[in-house]
Amino acid sequence: MEVDGFVFVNGNEQGRKNDTPPVSDRILSEVDAFVERLRDTLWPLNRFLHENPELAFEEYKAHDALTKFMRSQEGWKITPSAYGMDTAWVATYESGRTGPVVSFNAEMDALPNLGHACGHNLIATAAVAASLATAEIMKRHNLPGKILLFGTPGEEGTGGGKIRLLEAGAYRNVDISLISHPGILNNSPFVRTTAFARLEIEYFGHAAHAANSPWLGINALDALVIAYNAISTLRQQTMPSDVIGISITNGGAAPNIIHAYAAGVVVIRAASSHRLKQLQEKVQSCIRAGAVATGAREGIKVIQGYADHVPNRVLARSYAKYWNLLPDIPGPSIPPEGQVTWVKASTDQGNISYVLPSVNASFAIPPGPNRGQPHSPEFEKISGSKNAFDRALRVGKVLAGTALDVLRKPGFLDDVKSQWRRDMEEIESQTAAGLI
Ligand SMILES: [Zn+2]
Ligand SMILES: [Zn+2]
Repeated sequence: MEVDGFVFVNGNEQGRKNDTPPVSDRILSEVDAFVERLRDTLWPLNRFLHENPELAFEEYKAHDALTKFMRSQEGWKITPSAYGMDTAWVATYESGRTGPVVSFNAEMDALPNLGHACGHNLIATAAVAASLATAEIMKRHNLPGKILLFGTPGEEGTGGGKIRLLEAGAYRNVDISLISHPGILNNSPFVRTTAFARLEIEYFGHAAHAANSPWLGINALDALVIAYNAISTLRQQTMPSDVIGISITNGGAAPNIIHAYAAGVVVIRAASSHRLKQLQEKVQSCIRAGAVATGAREGIKVIQGYADHVPNRVLARSYAKYWNLLPDIPGPSIPPEGQVTWVKASTDQGNISYVLPSVNASFAIPPGPNRGQPHSPEFEKISGSKNAFDRALRVGKVLAGTALDVLRKPGFLDDVKSQWRRDMEEIESQTAAGLI
């Protein structure tokens, strides 16, 4: 059947239950069938990534496996070790005609001692499936435009591989960025994450004998304790979404001396990058207070954190539509539009969302909400399961549906971009009004 120039393809493919009704959307139906045909090729790739966990910026095996796989796909150009990072890479598909530029991010890194306990193998699998399906439909329907699939290293910790890619200009002239992340609680494209920063603090005092001549000393530990208490007091005046954690990493040498040196770490999280800056200033005042009170000299090293993620509602709406059009919808349901899914974690996709429209879709993997959260050994185990792989393929299909809306629907990208501008303006004005 052909309607409006698009060929109808039945979604009943391998891996799908026989009594499953066909997908009612023509393009999604094609995407569905195409990704189902990729299933047997993608499974070993997903398993290889899961079985070979590598730390941030050391994703050499993943880099090689993914670039090799993409190189074997017709029409794709591969740039290995891209933008000055050994393990970053880009796969590009061009239609040959100018049009929208859509991009997908594939994370690859695992966790120290825990393997793929954040399921980044599934993120890569979903991004590869989405990219290949988008390219296939572009080819079949002669759609203008370009696809970029980025291999983005170092998301865990404060690595910020995507920030480095942004700074190197990788996303210049890219219209949208799509990514997903597995978890156990949510299926949602309306994901907000927190902004965070890490402040490493030191105090330099002056050593003296604590019994004999303490007046000759300057107590660095006292400075740190004053800062600790000042920050604890500050917590009463913070906003509900602000989080401040403190640890003392060096509390002085011995009790019978005035401490010449003390150190600690403060980690702060906030609902937005703007709010984070305000919170950081307040915390830094508390740190200065310790120095002023004792005469010690303070040193503050701010480790660049990640921005909060601002989901693009127009893209997210498209994602929700295609998620619900595919059969066998897994729970929990995608929440209604306007209901933001707060994930109290941070990602460098947040920084991307401040530069271009982004969706960072959460997807729940079996067995479900009462089991191990990401960064637990149980999550590492289930991230390598066939069931989790199935969910990643579903996400890949849905992300392709969204990218194809950008590539084929007149005016859609304009709507996406004006929503992004409105979101950025709203954040500015809410911040100015002290609301976030
Ligand atoms: Zn993680
Ligand atoms: Zn992660």
